[in-house]
Amino acid sequence: MKFFAVSRGDEASNRITEQFNQLAVQHGLTPDAEAPQVVVSIGGDGTMLSAFHLFAHRLADTCFVGIHTGRLGFYADWMPEELATLVDMIAMSPEQRNGRIVQYPLVEVEIAGRNGIENHLTLNEFTIKGVESTLVAELHVNDERFEMFRGDGICISTPSGSTAYNKSLGGALIHPSIESLQIAEIASINNRVYRTLGSSMVLPKHHHFDIYPQGGRNLLLTLDHLSQQRNDIVSIRASVSDTKVQFVRYRPFPFWSRVREAFIGQESH
Ligand code: NAD
Repeated sequence: MKFFAVSRGDEASNRITEQFNQLAVQHGLTPDAEAPQVVVSIGGDGTMLSAFHLFAHRLADTCFVGIHTGRLGFYADWMPEELATLVDMIAMSPEQRNGRIVQYPLVEVEIAGRNGIENHLTLNEFTIKGVESTLVAELHVNDERFEMFRGDGICISTPSGSTAYNKSLGGALIHPSIESLQIAEIASINNRVYRTLGSSMVLPKHHHFDIYPQGGRNLLLTLDHLSQQRNDIVSIRASVSDTKVQFVRYRPFPFWSRVREAFIGQESH
């Protein structure tokens, strides 16, 4: 079994990473930074986002698992005290491990610039925002014009990303078994002149959503924790990817329990 551990880079995460690496090698696992079968993210949800993008080119052959060195995360749900159990379980045979893999949908983002097209996958969300001015963009659903958007920006999230930025925008939480993407507005302008839908929309697989920014303005694009400014964007297409991300769940931790634990906590009555 080949593994690679990605650390957040702080002192505590580096220490746990060192311990994990030693234990893993003692259990006969092989470190491999190029083609690991199991990628262990040690830090927080942001570390899992980094680990995902490091290995996004080989998702079919990679499983992810997250250890949190701060508070419990959505993707990082193992505690540092559980390192030995985790290593034992990673060392299991593929047959033993098979029933423990969960797959979450991803959003594919095709960015067409004046000089070519790029394709990206996102684990949480893609966003597009105006930099020094309002974002003005024509939005199409399945090749039909839907509306002219004016506002701060647009957020397109995956089901597992629905609990992140999307939630702050008033979007719904979507269970990751529902293959879909969610479009949420970021501070749209609505008055007698300009009108947008005002609600978030959930699109199923095989639908697509296109954004045509107007006016050649400077735009900020984000894919999870990564961002770039561009002034050459012609169009952006978002759809549910055929590729999924695989997480190794070594014990049950249902999505709704995670939601409750993160946002509600222990009720006093
Ligand atoms: P960060 O360190 O600012 O983390 C943001 C927070 O989002 C952390 O508390 C993290 O635990 C949480 N988070 C990440 N993924 C989550 C998920 N799927 N469900 C629930 N919570 C989640 O930034 P970062 O570590 O670089 O992470 C980038 C992420 O931050 C983006 O993908 C975006 O979702 C989020 N973000 C949120 C807002 C907002 O809520 N207003 C704004 C910008 C970015």
